[in-house]
Amino acid sequence: SVAVVLFTADLRLHDHPPLRAALEASDEVVPLFVRDGRLDGAGRAAPNRLAFLADCLADLDRGLRERGGRLVVRSGDVVEEACRVVAEADADDVHMAADVSAYAHRREERLRTALEAEGRRLHVHDTTTTVLAPGAVTPAGGTHFAVFTPYFRHWSRQHLRHVLGPPRRVRVPDAVRSGPLPSRADVRGVSEGLAAGGESEGRKRFAAWRRRGLGAYGDRHDDLAGDATSRLSPHLHFGTLSPVELVRRAREAEGPGAEAFVRQLAWRDFHRQVLAARPEAARADYRTKHDRWRSERAAAEDVAAWKEGRTGYPVVDAAMRQLRHEGWMHNRGRLLTACFLVKTLYVDWRVGARHFLDLLVDGDLSNNQLNWQWVAGTGTDSRPNRVLNPVTQGRRYDRDGAYVRRWVPELAGLRGPAVHEPWKLEGAERAAYGAYPERVVELSEGLERFRRGRGLD
Ligand code: FAD
Repeated sequence: SVAVVLFTADLRLHDHPPLRAALEASDEVVPLFVRDGRLDGAGRAAPNRLAFLADCLADLDRGLRERGGRLVVRSGDVVEEACRVVAEADADDVHMAADVSAYAHRREERLRTALEAEGRRLHVHDTTTTVLAPGAVTPAGGTHFAVFTPYFRHWSRQHLRHVLGPPRRVRVPDAVRSGPLPSRADVRGVSEGLAAGGESEGRKRFAAWRRRGLGAYGDRHDDLAGDATSRLSPHLHFGTLSPVELVRRAREAEGPGAEAFVRQLAWRDFHRQVLAARPEAARADYRTKHDRWRSERAAAEDVAAWKEGRTGYPVVDAAMRQLRHEGWMHNRGRLLTACFLVKTLYVDWRVGARHFLDLLVDGDLSNNQLNWQWVAGTGTDSRPNRVLNPVTQGRRYDRDGAYVRRWVPELAGLRGPAVHEPWKLEGAERAAYGAYPERVVELSEGLERFRRGRGLD
């Protein structure tokens, strides 16, 4: 018998329950990835993610070939293409993993209906993209947890399934043809410093980081210049690494670093269970608030300065330039740049969230939108009116100013933490940063506007 395995956000061979199930039940398997044409058409497929995806597919194909198989790549409507491949292979079964978005649910239902009409079966396995499936833990009488701490308490107590090894051999029927593998070289507008994708790369990165970074993660993860986080987010986004495997391996290492890392992975699950229960949270404010945000058009100059990293606040500009250059930004940078846009510039969080999604290689509806809501104080944050001061943040998390000097060359000549307040310098010292822009707004002015807008005064 023949089965099709539909890969979605789980582009790996290790710890892949749908692939394992298909290989156990069938003689031949078609590993299929369908590039969804609608995502390209709607301009939603950002270049950095397309480039990373190309690496992931190339690596998956390589891994399958080493095992006697190959990857079948198609593009178009996922359901239509999957049905076409099923017919070509004369497959009885399709295996795939459950996913959380409203889009994924509709896709799954359409596929089920189409297959059953032909007398074939769809097997939807537990999610491969989270540690626990959304809905695996719920509060009494509710569909999801709205607050992280109680969620984490329940989450931590759950038993985790075993991690599956990669397959030894994969036999793919000859009859099924593949379209061309996309290539990173064909994608335009990719960030210069974009990391390489693929399962092999992800596993190498995790192994190295586990040896050298995990132990100190608890103390160092907020250090902007130290770059002491795992940088696994794009791998988690494309599923080149299994979150269950990461948690199990981190727990084996033990210690405060491992605990802090596992906690961050729980945040990822947390946001996904919110989005699964309330898909509208991707756009609508989670709490009903009456913010009178400035639109992108009303604040055009401020928004442009923010996007281009020339707000005149060095740590904000450094982080925004890192985003453009690498397609990735440190979490502390995301927090303080998002807060700056929303609270100091008083611009609608959706404007910032869209820009992040345009550039982030890990750009992801649940993590991005819900973190933006959290920062904007429209989400589940218990301190919705907190404002991060970019100068204090700079001094605290980029103590010596090395992060700013790395990304803002205009200020590279300034020593020490003075780099966070270049406007305070005088005379010859001031001349050293002549090319660096003036501040778009005074912090006190921004704060007043925010407090007025939110009706806090
Ligand atoms: P590490 O510190 O090594 O953490 C390990 C993993 O835990 C990460 O890879 C990530 O999967 C998860 N994680 C860490 N922090 C968070 C968090 N706050 N929420 C959810 N998961 C978390 N993360 C994305 O993956 N995609 C996004 O689009 C995204 N947008 C964000 C937007 C804003 C405004 C903010 C404040 C945060 C956003 N994050 C997003 C969360 C976080 O900043 C990144 O996951 C993290 O910086 C990735 O770097 P890392 O892999 O080195 O993280």
